[in-house]
Order: sequence, then C-alpha cells, then structure tokens
Amino acid sequence: MSGPTYRAVKGTRDLFPPESERFAQAEAAAARIFGSYGYGEVRTPCLEATELFARSVGETTDIVHKEMYTFADRKGRSLSLRPENTAGVVRAVIEGGLAAGPMPLRLWYAGPQFRYERPQAARYREFRQIGVELFGVPGPAAEVEILTMLFAFLGALGFRSLSASLNSVGTARSREEFGEALRAYLEPRSSGFGEDDRRKLAENPLRLFDSKDAAVRAALEGSPRTLDFLDAESRRHHDEVRRLLGQARIPFRDEPSLVRGLDYYTRTAFEFYRTGAEGQQDALGGGGRYDGLIEALGGPATPGVGFAIGLDRTLLVLEQRGLAAEAPAVVFVASFEGTRAAAGALVRELRREFAVETDVESRGFGAQMKAAGRANARFVVILGEDEWTRGEVALKDSQTGAQETLRRESLAAALRERMRAVAAR
Ligand code: AMP
Repeated sequence: MSGPTYRAVKGTRDLFPPESERFAQAEAAAARIFGSYGYGEVRTPCLEATELFARSVGETTDIVHKEMYTFADRKGRSLSLRPENTAGVVRAVIEGGLAAGPMPLRLWYAGPQFRYERPQAARYREFRQIGVELFGVPGPAAEVEILTMLFAFLGALGFRSLSASLNSVGTARSREEFGEALRAYLEPRSSGFGEDDRRKLAENPLRLFDSKDAAVRAALEGSPRTLDFLDAESRRHHDEVRRLLGQARIPFRDEPSLVRGLDYYTRTAFEFYRTGAEGQQDALGGGGRYDGLIEALGGPATPGVGFAIGLDRTLLVLEQRGLAAEAPAVVFVASFEGTRAAAGALVRELRREFAVETDVESRGFGAQMKAAGRANARFVVILGEDEWTRGEVALKDSQTGAQETLRRESLAAALRERMRAVAAR
C-alpha cells in the first residue's frame, strides 16, 4: 500500500491524546499559576508585518535573517509567521493603548511559533511556547518575580532540579561598545570563519555567540565579556538581581558568554534548564529584560522583562526523564440489562468530577470489560443487578485486580480517595 496522499508539512506535527492532553494541561497550569501572580492571558495573531520582527528581534539575527516564514500577501505586503511572541505582544500592547495605561502590566501567552530550521529531535518548524511579559517595572524585583513564577510553573509540571544561567548585556550603548571590542578581538582570529559568520562579524558581532561553528567557538575563547562593559547602573542592577535571586532561593549560575539570539535584550539575559544527576542539562527556554523595545516599536518608554518556555521540548524532557505526572485515571462504568438506565444516571453524576467512559452500544458484559481495557480505565464500576437492588455497586481496580462492594452513596468518595492515591503515587 502506498502512503497517505497528504502529509503534514515538514517540521510540523499532529498531536493526539494523550500528548495533546499534556499540552492542554500545561496551558491550564500556566493559566492557574500565572493567574495567581496577577497575569492575564493575551492572544495575538500568528501573522504580523515582517518589519515588526526586523525591528525587534533584529535584522541580522539568525531568526530573522534565515528562519522566518516570510511572504508577500495578495496586495504585496510583506508578512511573516511569528518566530516568537514578544514582538507581537509589544505591538499589541502599544496598539491597544495598554502601554499608556496603568503599570505594571502583567500578561502571559501560549501558542505556536514558526521557524524555518532543520527539523531534528524536539526541533520543529511549528513549535509551541508559553511565555510571560511584565511591563513597567524597571528594578530587579521584576526579574525575580518572573523567575520565581517560572520555577513554580515548571515545578507544577513535575520538574524537581532546575537552574538558570544568568548574564547582563547592559544597555544599548554598552552593547555597542562591547560589540566593537568583540569585533576588534575576533577580526585577527577570523580567517577560518564561513561566509555567514563573516557577515555577523561585520554587521553584529554579538550574533557570533549563536554560532555552532568550531572555528567561531575557538575564536571566542578568551574574548571580551559583556560584564566588563557594563555601565555603573547596569552593574548595580545585575548585582541586585543576583542577590535577590539568592534570597528567593532560585538556583542560578553566572554565564558570561550568554547573550541570547535576539537583539532586543538589555541588561538581564537568562536561560533555564533541568539538571540531571550526571550533570546533563536539558534546555527549556530563556528570557530577559528589554527596556528599549516598547519605545523602539513606537510606544512610550516602558521597561519590560519576560521569558519563553519551549513547550514541545519541555514536555519531551518530562516524558524522557520519567517526570510527567500521570494523566487523571479513567473510570469505566459497566452495567447489565436491568441496570442500564441506572448506569446512565450514575455516569452523568460521576462525569461532574471524573473522566468516565462507558459502553454506548449496550453490549454484553465481556465486551464491556474489553472496552474498559482499551480505554485503559484504572477503575471499573460494575452495576450488577442483584447488588444494585441492595443499593450496592462493585468497584474494581484494574491494576491490582482488587474488587470490593460499596454502598452506592459512598462510591464518589471512594473514587476520589483512590484517585488521590494514584496521583500521589
Ligand atoms: P528562543 O525564543 O529562541 O529564546 O527559544 C526559547 C525556547 O523555545 C527554546 O529554549 C526552545 O525550548 C524553544 N524552541 C526554539 N526554537 C524551537 C524549535 N524550532 N522547535 C522546538 N522548540 C523550539
């Protein structure tokens, strides 16, 4: 047999249960945890004017230069699928008048992002990010708030050992001075650079930190560091971020070569990852401060900080490392000829609280038990005719095989109790 006629576009994928449910659960956890810090959800379009990303993420970044899905619409306007969400949120906040409104402004988002990258394990052309943006707080408390919230969120997903790498890239001015020093340092060492890295050296030397090329990595050894170019205020800010993170017990380490692959960062830049027992690191996302961005995009001068979590990768790491919380257990309700109507009412009642499946085809008991197996039901409630007339039901745990008879009215409480035990494992 030949394969299907139509296939998902390279680098994109379909999500079915239970994977799709894990994405939904992560988004629900984001709504709950970010909501408890006063953040509200913002949803912005996947399509934006190309110019927006060139101005914010930066014309010379890999993301804008080589990875954007850019096309002319039917009227010849250049549009791009968003490669990240901060630029769109900032555009929306200015356009919607929120940037001129009361501060601080706290927003979170979740949604697909698009980058034309070479697909590989956990690297897609359509991938999903969850992120937050906090506007209007110039001081280090902003970084501490979002990192505290980030760790709370990742903890709720099941992560236990997490850490952040931290750096400061200073102001636009100190970045420029640093860039010049970096260029001066690298130029005599650049004979082995490829064409693209030469372009970066000429246009925006900071972007060489994104390069995976061995010649560039070697040339960067011993290069100047952003921290040596910080102005006094940025240095104070950075020291205070570090002090407060320590106080808040957020694990982090200094990473002097961290600049991140987007041009809009000022001062704080960070990435975060899971640390494994053998010292391996699973990168989950990154973020930082972008104090000049709102103004650069036409809004009032307003500070901002944010982060983005790569959701595909984060969920994969949870799964691979055996950290994923189990999906809520399913209850299957099986009945006989004489208890079918009663079962209907019971299922409706239990669905208010539990995920309940049942056989809709009124088949025999054996077929129902098979259906329970296929549904992977952890618990089976059996409405035997004799038991039911006595006001009783049987509750079977499919994993242990244990079966017990309960009073009808104590069923919900018993299920609740067992579900809790399953979730706690
Ligand atoms: P960035 O916006 O480049 O800082 O990326 C933030 C996070 O998004 C990364 O740490 C990844 O987890 C995730 N990410 C970025 N690009 C991709 C991709 N092509 N596929 C899957 N996840 C991605």
